[in-house]
Amino acid sequence: MDQSILTFFLALFALQFAVEFGLNELNLRHVEASSAKKAIPEAFRGKIAPQDYAKSVEYTLSNGRFQRWSEIYGSAVLLMVLLSGLLGVVDRWSAYWSSSFSLVRYSYGIIFCCAVGAILTLTAVPTELYSTFGIEAKFGFNKTTIGLYLSDKLKGLVLGLLIGVPFLLVVLWLMDIMGRAWWLWAFAFISAFQLLMIVIFPTFIAPWFNKFEPLKEGELRQRILALAEQIGFKTSGIYSMDGSRRSAHSNAYFTGIGKAKRIVLFDTLIEQMSTAQGLAVLAHEMGHYKMKHIHRMLLVQTVFLIGALYILSLLIAYPPFFAVFGLAPSNRGALVLFSLVAGPFTFYLAPFMNRLSRKHEYEADRFAVKTLRDGTAMAEALINLTVKNLSNLTPHPWYSAYHYSHPTAVERINAIRQLPV
Ligand SMILES: [Zn+2]
Repeated sequence: MDQSILTFFLALFALQFAVEFGLNELNLRHVEASSAKKAIPEAFRGKIAPQDYAKSVEYTLSNGRFQRWSEIYGSAVLLMVLLSGLLGVVDRWSAYWSSSFSLVRYSYGIIFCCAVGAILTLTAVPTELYSTFGIEAKFGFNKTTIGLYLSDKLKGLVLGLLIGVPFLLVVLWLMDIMGRAWWLWAFAFISAFQLLMIVIFPTFIAPWFNKFEPLKEGELRQRILALAEQIGFKTSGIYSMDGSRRSAHSNAYFTGIGKAKRIVLFDTLIEQMSTAQGLAVLAHEMGHYKMKHIHRMLLVQTVFLIGALYILSLLIAYPPFFAVFGLAPSNRGALVLFSLVAGPFTFYLAPFMNRLSRKHEYEADRFAVKTLRDGTAMAEALINLTVKNLSNLTPHPWYSAYHYSHPTAVERINAIRQLPV
């Protein structure tokens, strides 16, 4: 029995690896071939300097070549953690240490989950370092210093202890005392927790990592105020963020619900765009707000969450699930194992979530063009963003369909051109 569970898992794991690796290879070939033919998409012809196009190709290829190694490395680490008996060792070690914290109920479970989390976090450091201080630095994007990197890690650790540990405590407690219906209680708790995080993240957590300021006086601000008034968006929720502290990449996003909702423009974006382009980006973000995209995404995630918790509740009652990976059945073991083995199963949901997200992007673009009665500024903003971020102009269609949460700039510009203005 154990053997067939293991074979099944390994087969799915190998399939996920093959699909992921294969998509990356397809994408690399596609970009190389497009570059050799100098096949700049029509929307970008005359809008991107030849040396910028060449640089964007190099940047895409560097990232893709590195992805080969990071995928092999990540998969090897995960298999090692799952199959080497390490989990059993960590479990015994946690039992030993938790005896000194016996006053704290569930300290055993908390120490075990934190220890596995620490192993995974530490093993991810080399790829993170190379990506930030190798590739990003080489192409002039990285602004993060080692000091800032370390302080970010430290803050992450503090947040994990302040928020993650109490969260885990409640989940372990519900699993322990609520009997067979624990997963329904856990679902209610996790959903409420997620809502709370959506509210407190923009207001209390994000400002710990970045400075958020109201937009500077000027033409852009004046026009944004007028637009916000027209749409009915409270301007107290529009901020500029010092993204330039860590990276030269530029971006904008909409986050939060209710009173906590915010539109955030990176300082890098404000700097590189004309007023009309900046206004178009802002109108797009307001489109996300108007169309209730965050609410829709939350709803989908809620469905996934309840499904995942139900499956977990079945697995907990199935000892071979634990035995395969060298663990005795326990709630803590179930939580950790479930999160470790979920990848090969949830991997196939990603393209559907990305498809929904891309649909939202088209809707927000449409909203911006309609509201501003101007398609040119939005298209120019997209070209500007793509060129400055050295984004891949020619991804393989399968690769972008699978991995991209946003349609490509070319797809978006073509869609914008179809709109009546
Ligand atoms: Zn968007």
